[in-house]
Amino acid sequence: MAKVGFIGLGNMGGPMAVNLVKAGHEVRVFDLSADAMAKVVEVGGQAAGSAESAVVGAEVVVSMLPAGVHVEGLFVSRDKLFSKMTPGTLVIDSSTIDAATAQQVAAKATEFGVTFIDAPVSGGTAGAAAGTLTFIVGGPEEAFNRAKPLLECMGKNIFHAGDVGAGQIAKVCNNMMLGILMAGTAEALNLGIKNGLDPKVLSDIMLKSSGRNWALELYNPVPGVMENVPASRDYQGGFMVDLMVKDLGLALETSIKSQSSTPMGSLARNLFSLHAKQGQGKLDFSSIYQFFKQS
Ligand code: NAD
Repeated sequence: MAKVGFIGLGNMGGPMAVNLVKAGHEVRVFDLSADAMAKVVEVGGQAAGSAESAVVGAEVVVSMLPAGVHVEGLFVSRDKLFSKMTPGTLVIDSSTIDAATAQQVAAKATEFGVTFIDAPVSGGTAGAAAGTLTFIVGGPEEAFNRAKPLLECMGKNIFHAGDVGAGQIAKVCNNMMLGILMAGTAEALNLGIKNGLDPKVLSDIMLKSSGRNWALELYNPVPGVMENVPASRDYQGGFMVDLMVKDLGLALETSIKSQSSTPMGSLARNLFSLHAKQGQGKLDFSSIYQFFKQS
């Protein structure tokens, strides 16, 4: 069993750390929120007083932070955590960040004898709680093989996308598609509802028709259609609109760098961004349905 330092215990990181504890690992956790730490301590995690204290002596460090600026600040420029780690430590960053930051941070890690890999996830908060996440890893083969047994405590599908940064590129492609799918699903359901259809009946019809997709199947955006999804709890928890705006921004940056056309992704980014600007940034991203309902 490994000595693990875990930083960032939000909607995703919290349940992921709980699964590592349940699998028998020795997990020292840190988050800026004491409440977030308490949830992991409750099941047997150890609370660290600082990010530094979470990583000192750890064999593996897992981070699950909002964006690239947090990851860079923590490991490199502000908290300088790489310099506090034992050489040989493996750092697995599961946050969704830009590939360039992941590559720069990974290069910095090597100066301290530390290996940094990107391992963003898909599967949402339900997948994090159930330990069924998909991990998309970018990094050397050897580091991937070392990380895999640990990732299997938190996920079901573990992919090696390529070198450092490749995990983030694959994740950004996936989330651009997710943003488009959720906006399209909400738009179609709203059209049906405005024309007198019952959202549950319409959802059942589309689930057996060619409009079937992940959002419709597992994450229906209309309140009351599905139990245990954010739409049925006032869009609380889940994947925040602000984070979807960030990911669609990453997709846009990636498309500019590679001169790829992403008109659908750009439109989705504008929709979620307008929704966030109307004060809904902290709600789950399926609340885009409310945007269509009101417009
Ligand atoms: P969140 O905002 O719920 O959690 C982030 C946590 O990081 C917070 O608890 C915050 O206090 C903590 N944090 C920030 N800076 C810190 C610091 N310096 N030291 C310690 N803790 C710090 O976000 P989330 O939904 O858990 O998402 C985390 C990452 O996972 C994001 O990059 C997101 O894009 C990605 N992601 C989220 C989902 C989802 O469904 N929520 C799914 C896949 C990927």
